[in-house]
Amino acid sequence: MEKEILIFGHKNPDTDSICSSIVKERLNEKNGYNNSKAVRLGNINQETQYVLDYIGIEAPELIEKVEEDQKVILVDHNEFSQSVTGIENAKIIEVVDHHRIANFETLDPLYYTARPYGCTATILFQDFKAKEFEIDKEEAILMASAIISDTLLLKSPTTTKHDKKALEELGKIAKINIEEYGLEMLKAGTNLDDFTAEELINIDAKSLDKNGNKFVIAQVNTVDISSVLKRQEVLEGAIQNAINENGLDLFVLAITDILNSNSELIVLGNKSNAVEKAFNKKLENNRVFLEGVVSRKKQLLPDIDKNM
Ligand code: MN
Ligand code: MN
Repeated sequence: MEKEILIFGHKNPDTDSICSSIVKERLNEKNGYNNSKAVRLGNINQETQYVLDYIGIEAPELIEKVEEDQKVILVDHNEFSQSVTGIENAKIIEVVDHHRIANFETLDPLYYTARPYGCTATILFQDFKAKEFEIDKEEAILMASAIISDTLLLKSPTTTKHDKKALEELGKIAKINIEEYGLEMLKAGTNLDDFTAEELINIDAKSLDKNGNKFVIAQVNTVDISSVLKRQEVLEGAIQNAINENGLDLFVLAITDILNSNSELIVLGNKSNAVEKAFNKKLENNRVFLEGVVSRKKQLLPDIDKNM
């Protein structure tokens, strides 16, 4: 039977979006629904590639758009600005997500699971538990990797007790040392040398909309902020192009030090003062350093959004 329901995470997919799509497909199968298929909306980043190579599985198929009335399941996002081209006319039958709900509307009733956890995979883990399904080693590594990625090894303030509990149990099932595996996996995603400036600002960029004000908050992980800042000039060139091409009011690039849990922001656009107001700090050379800030969802987006 042809798989007719597509499961996918957001554009510029991260490890949670990819791993949770794959796990959701398997969960559906365990529930007796064999007609859904994980796909992806963009390139696999290096961190996620590390996970897929570790397990030895292929990435889900890439799709560019969906046809009218295509049945879809969204994981790890709900905002249409972060979803597939054609989402407005697709038939969303289910959402499993851990983000704010914004710019989202459907014609028909749907299943919607929203839990304010650190990771979509934690919600899926609880679904396995609720149904008393066995979790195999591969599934455990997929979910553990997503949780490690989204919570930066449980150090992000988005981390909840549910993520901790899930990761601990998944680590046992997978028989991996979470600290060791997690650090290797996170580090795999910090090699930014091979990316052009344009690619770098799109590795993990989220498009947002506040009453018609369009803005982007992009984030890259590193173990050395200063090595990324060496390229500030060309990065700003790429950011300015993105602003011009997409009519953006603001572009924020967060360069996050995953070892010391800090971020430096590069900020451009006519609404740059939204960032200054959000953190009560002046930009210097289009930059601001934020101590202890690692989470876009919890520490950047809400305050910036409020000031847009
Ligand atoms: Mn995500
Ligand atoms: Mn996520």
